[in-house]
Amino acid sequence: MYDIIVIGSGISGASFAHQIVENAKTLLIEANEGIDLRTNVFPEHNREYLNGINMENHDIFPCNHKKTRYFHKEIKGGIDSDEFGEPLGKIVYTERLLDTFIKQFEEKGGTVKFNERVKNVQKNPDKVQVYTNNGEEYSAKLLILATGSRGFDLQRKVGFETPDSYLGIYTHLNGSENQIKENFDFDYMFHLNPNIGQNGPFFFNVGTDRVLTGFLGNAGDTEAQCINKLDRILQNYKYIQPNIKGLKWDKSEFVTGEISKHPITEFTQDRMMVLGEAAGLVTAFFYEGLFSGLVSANLAAKTIKPLLANDSNFAKNELKNYKKEIHRILLDKYYKNGEGFEYIFYNTGSTTINKIWKVYIEFVNESKRLRRNIWDAHRAPPEGYDLEKDKWAGRQIFNRLSFTDKISLGSKFLSALMKVY
Ligand SMILES: Cc1cc2nc3c(=O)[nH]c(=O)nc-3n(C[C@H](O)[C@H](O)[C@H](O)COP(=O)(O)OP(=O)(O)OC[C@H]3O[C@@H](n4cnc5c(N)ncnc54)[C@H](O)[C@@H]3O)c2cc1C
Repeated sequence: MYDIIVIGSGISGASFAHQIVENAKTLLIEANEGIDLRTNVFPEHNREYLNGINMENHDIFPCNHKKTRYFHKEIKGGIDSDEFGEPLGKIVYTERLLDTFIKQFEEKGGTVKFNERVKNVQKNPDKVQVYTNNGEEYSAKLLILATGSRGFDLQRKVGFETPDSYLGIYTHLNGSENQIKENFDFDYMFHLNPNIGQNGPFFFNVGTDRVLTGFLGNAGDTEAQCINKLDRILQNYKYIQPNIKGLKWDKSEFVTGEISKHPITEFTQDRMMVLGEAAGLVTAFFYEGLFSGLVSANLAAKTIKPLLANDSNFAKNELKNYKKEIHRILLDKYYKNGEGFEYIFYNTGSTTINKIWKVYIEFVNESKRLRRNIWDAHRAPPEGYDLEKDKWAGRQIFNRLSFTDKISLGSKFLSALMKVY
């Protein structure tokens, strides 16, 4: 019998297992054979949640994230952190970070089972039993669901709600370091284009020898539609051709999957906790999920460590600090930023998205104060996030709209202010 079973070896499960292994006999179960390649944006405020892993390790973090570009068909804009001294964060080769967490977990005595999918869970008063597709059965005092958006079936089976989700698609573009340096004068690009998707961006996350690109689909989009659309974009979308010139991709390696949108309300049951994207812990609009995975892993470990020492039975009531801290650090302030953006930009119709996005980029280009706020949001601890900054930005954007747009969008901005803030 284990003290803890963790299902899922993404950022949430791997970093949690890494933190708890010295306090508990821990089993980590992962359905995949290995860890998928991912090139992600990794803001500076993630650093304090790395549990000893060095953010200056170039193998894992190949370059700084210094420049973000916002694309609109008519204008480009963005922020260059040189203006404020320090970078926004790093670009991370996420599979290498996860690999490091898992290796260290094993070195400290943890057990890992890859290629094993948990099919069923049985809760008993004194333990939780899990059953896998290999016919294995394991039991533990506490079960951690860190199953991301690929474990919703299991999550529902054990009685947790699941977050809203949309189908997304991504792939890597490959090229030489020189070619990538030549093509990209930024590290991250965020492009709202309603013809691609009305609920999320088309993006580039730029590493040194590979670039992740993709988009979030519309409600009801099928996998085949997303795959064909991404292929068409890469082949034909003139606007991005200078960036992808000479780079290679393979349509058979396009990855589709659900991307969670909004947090669920209850993160614990007796002897069970949900972490990261499975709990919908991904910021709205920006889809910053690594940070939330790291934070939720850290908060879960902090909640559990004293209970392990007291031979607890991990009743829901004993786990309540986890929810309280998730609210304090992520949901009550920091998440409002993405929620506000989402409310203003999405589900508003193509013409409106285009208009407000353009006004926003013009404002970023003009206002050093706004650029500093964006820079600060990447670096400062989230619990101190100042919502007044968002309200100020919202007012500025509204003031820049034309008279007729002010009339038609006034109630939208007012509702955002009242509902989100
Ligand atoms: C294209 C794309 C780009 C992104 N870019 C960024 C970015 O730049 N920066 C950022 O911060 N965030 C980004 N995100 C979001 C972020 O990557 C995710 O929110 C985060 O990785 C989720 O981590 P997780 O550990 O909670 O879940 P996951 O990474 O999904 O891990 C869950 C794991 O659980 C396993 N699993 C599920 N069910 C079972 C089961 N029944 N049995 C065994 N194993 C199971 C799965 O196989 C999976 O490996 C991006 C997301 C996407 C899709």
